[in-house]
Amino acid sequence: MATNADSRSRSLENLRLVDRDHIWHPFTQMKSWAATAPLVVERGDGNYLIDTDGRRYLDGVSSLWCNIHGHRHPHIDAAVRDQLDKIAHTTLLGLTNTAVIGATEALIDVVPDGLTRVFYSENGAAAVEVALKMAFQSCVHRGRPDKSKFLALDQAYHGDTLGAVSVGGIDIFHSAFGPLLFECFRAPSNVADANGRHPDLLGDMSRILDEHADEICAVIIEPLVQGAAGVITFPDGYVRDVRELCDRHDVLLICDEVATGFGRTGSMFASGREGITPDIMVLGKGITGGYLPMSATLTTESVYESFLGGPDEGRQLFHGHTYSGNPLAAAACRANLEVFDQERTIESLQPKIVQLISRLDKIASLEAVADVRQKGTMIGIELVQEFGDHDLPAAVVCAAMRDVGVIVRPLGDVVVWMPPLSITGAEIDLLADSTEFAIGTL
Ligand code: PMP
Repeated sequence: MATNADSRSRSLENLRLVDRDHIWHPFTQMKSWAATAPLVVERGDGNYLIDTDGRRYLDGVSSLWCNIHGHRHPHIDAAVRDQLDKIAHTTLLGLTNTAVIGATEALIDVVPDGLTRVFYSENGAAAVEVALKMAFQSCVHRGRPDKSKFLALDQAYHGDTLGAVSVGGIDIFHSAFGPLLFECFRAPSNVADANGRHPDLLGDMSRILDEHADEICAVIIEPLVQGAAGVITFPDGYVRDVRELCDRHDVLLICDEVATGFGRTGSMFASGREGITPDIMVLGKGITGGYLPMSATLTTESVYESFLGGPDEGRQLFHGHTYSGNPLAAAACRANLEVFDQERTIESLQPKIVQLISRLDKIASLEAVADVRQKGTMIGIELVQEFGDHDLPAAVVCAAMRDVGVIVRPLGDVVVWMPPLSITGAEIDLLADSTEFAIGTL
């Protein structure tokens, strides 16, 4: 087995061979992957990833939208190291631990008022599964087993487990599994038709609820931004209006803040920004500052209480994971929230958002750019389809940006910027300059 020292002395070629021969990468056509020479990350430093040759790359997608304060942040590093000196893992089944208690206090402090109960999992998809099961089981406990369906949005993405895929609505990710999925009601996403007209977002949702609220236990949305769909943004007030519709129809509201949570929209949470409290909120990605796998499904006293009963009543939530409430991840979670406080992250983000917007004006005017969408630091630059004879212009742009030291990823025709909240003014310019340069190469 290779040690760290071994891996340092190993040639890049050798590392790539092991990757090519053994590692199956997510969402990746491995035949194409095997023909590439992948960038092998060895270290991180602030907002940069560093490869085995010491080359530095700006982490323009926060290592898949989860890094918040940069890599190797001294406060989070120290918290994880301190926790390692105590214990790396113990279980939440039948026990609790000091680290998860600390993380929970810190979380309850920052989430919208009224979310007081936290169920831990290890990734966003699992926490979405928990939210779906929690919503349904809570209806059963309240005497409404007929409320067994969900209302989700077109273009939704909630993760890759089968329940999460069932409420998802992105054909390219989800259609392969059609026969395995449960059906749900669909309200429109904020995507314009060929004539540039946007759908009646609330009218359609309202009609579905008028007709089917008796069958629906919950509405699930990604509040304000559908990330994986290509950063589709919703008008301010949309989430507030959905909350009102859910209240009127006695349907629970699940806000999946796996992507929008922890400052990405410019506020700590998109639902908080809209001044509402969902019945169930799903958190992941940035919950540990992007350090370790952890997710959480939070809910209200009211939903929680519906699960209380005698030991033989079978009212407990039937769900659990081995690493739920893992102490190392919990230590990172708490330290992450402490850094938000110490560095006044949300406050210092505001001028950065202004700078990002100002740089997007010019990019939006480029011939190859069809649309630019932005909410806080979540940004999608949609390119004209097949621009300059390129089948996948966004992939070409991302590759050209990597050559000049910036890592971003395409989603279809969309170049996504999702930088760490710790990005500096100079790094925003690097991100924008490299994007303009790369689009210019098309
Ligand atoms: N929900 C949303 C809104 C997401 O963006 C994602 C991941 N991109 C998930 C759920 C799934 O999270 P994970 O990849 O940690 O399972």
